[in-house]
Amino acid sequence: MYRADSRKAEEFISHEEICATLDYVKEHKSDVAECKKILEKAGNNKGLSHREAALLLACEDADILEGIYQLAKKIKQEFYGNRIVMFAPLYLSNYCINSCEYCPYHIKNKHIRRKKLSQEEIQQEVMALQDMGHKRLALETGEDPVNNPLEYVLESIKTIYNIHHKNGDIRRVNVNIAATTVENYRKLKEAGIGTYILFQETYHKESYERLHPAGPKHDYNYHTEAMDRAMDGGIDDVGLGVLFGLETYMYEFVGLLMHAEHLEAVHGVGPHTISVPRVRHGDDIDADSFQNGISDEIFAKIVACIRISVPYTGLIISTRESKETREKVLELGVSQISGGSRTSVGGYAEEEAEEDNSAQFDVSDNRTLDEVVGWLMQTGHIPSFCTACYREGRTGDRFMSLCKSGQIQNCCHPNALLTLQEYLEDYASPNTKELGEKMIQKELNNIPNEKVRRKVEEYLKEIKDGKRDFWF
Ligand code: SF4
Ligand code: SF4
Repeated sequence: MYRADSRKAEEFISHEEICATLDYVKEHKSDVAECKKILEKAGNNKGLSHREAALLLACEDADILEGIYQLAKKIKQEFYGNRIVMFAPLYLSNYCINSCEYCPYHIKNKHIRRKKLSQEEIQQEVMALQDMGHKRLALETGEDPVNNPLEYVLESIKTIYNIHHKNGDIRRVNVNIAATTVENYRKLKEAGIGTYILFQETYHKESYERLHPAGPKHDYNYHTEAMDRAMDGGIDDVGLGVLFGLETYMYEFVGLLMHAEHLEAVHGVGPHTISVPRVRHGDDIDADSFQNGISDEIFAKIVACIRISVPYTGLIISTRESKETREKVLELGVSQISGGSRTSVGGYAEEEAEEDNSAQFDVSDNRTLDEVVGWLMQTGHIPSFCTACYREGRTGDRFMSLCKSGQIQNCCHPNALLTLQEYLEDYASPNTKELGEKMIQKELNNIPNEKVRRKVEEYLKEIKDGKRDFWF
């Protein structure tokens, strides 16, 4: 039985409802008139149901496809402007007792080098990240109650927030760790995390169990219901994601949107972010061995369809994707990207020797953060290091209501300029600095409220005089 407001995984991600949706889509995907109607509805910026969205994703009509892209660009512009928020992953430990078949940290991999950062090593990593200019991190660890217990994660968060090196500080720590208990989520909340991120990997239960043959992650229901426990534990902002390539993309797309509908139905707040990783090569992982890989064209269409289906949810893309792919999907709705990332444990302070490789997957975009920042500006985007909402208590439904009314823009745009100015002062190369100064001058004119504009000018001057950390 399908019930969006059920607390049971098999009811809110109902296999029967996904199959019925896929059958409906097969039958109606050539119905251009119906697709046009759905596109018109999406144009009201109120989102789409999983069935409506799936029909658009499946439709092969060239005009409809063009309509999806145009609308995705429009919604992106209306809600997120030309800003792109920057973050970096920080791998704390690759010890893991799970057996995920797409990840080289699985327990049976006996030759990958296992590493766990000590608090001193975390300090070195964080200082290296601060020296690049990062302010927002996503913490990653494998699941291992002996090597990486929750206490280790909590201690690491405390360490990270306490490092103030030169003008650097990490102002928001998002956490991507294994599904856990309400009590543990409460502890993460108390430690001051931003978003709790957990990828579903696949919504297809049978495939899920096959791809996770052993370890605690094998339990599909426990994993799928994790976001509910996180929200019960007081975490307002949760980040969903699937790993495209494991199952058919249509199945995953429908499951992902059903999960978003479920969170809205039960908690009154949809997901804060959605990530769209694709399976990648890793130490003993051959991405080509997975049958459901998707082309760059389908990938772009998925991004655009997510953008118009859940306009208030941030969309994240990592350095798994190449510069070319990232460029294409930025305008279609992506609002956050990582830059200068290392996917190994301890890869920022010191580059790893090849024989010591502890990376989770191969990075496709190897540019430095400064290169990514410069490239974003050359392509007309404002790189933003903003972390204001979480610090201002604008989370969960408070954030969503500001987002839905469009008011959040009055904060995002000025904050992007202020944090970019900080970046230019402290970390940018001369070329990037020149580009950035021009961009800030130009973008100041796009602040409609004169009082706010004057305040921003005042803060910008103070930043140039050495002060830091202003926000709206
Ligand atoms: Fe462990 Fe996560 Fe890798 Fe699975 S995906 S093996 S849980 S680190
Ligand atoms: Fe994100 Fe809030 Fe900053 Fe806007 S103001 S960029 S929503 S943290």
